[in-house]
Amino acid sequence: MKKNKKEIKPLNCEEAVTRFNDFMDNNLKGKSREELVKHISECRHCFDRLEFEQLLKSKVQQISSRSIGTKNKSLVNRIEKIIASL
Ligand SMILES: [Zn+2]
Repeated sequence: MKKNKKEIKPLNCEEAVTRFNDFMDNNLKGKSREELVKHISECRHCFDRLEFEQLLKSKVQQISSRSIGTKNKSLVNRIEKIIASL
């Protein structure tokens, strides 16, 4: 018999980080989500980083909703680029 397919594999930090955006957008489903949640519950480093990214994302959303069509748009673009490159 093969191993239980539902068994979740341990992620390394690099893999976990690549899933942050999907996780925050609620696009991460099923096993991928479980794997990430498990990693975060065990990895202080990624937990802190996810918390930071969520904070940053909510700030960007605040700025975006407030500043559509204003001069702050370039700032929003810059922050979004920074987030994308994290
Ligand atoms: Zn980690």
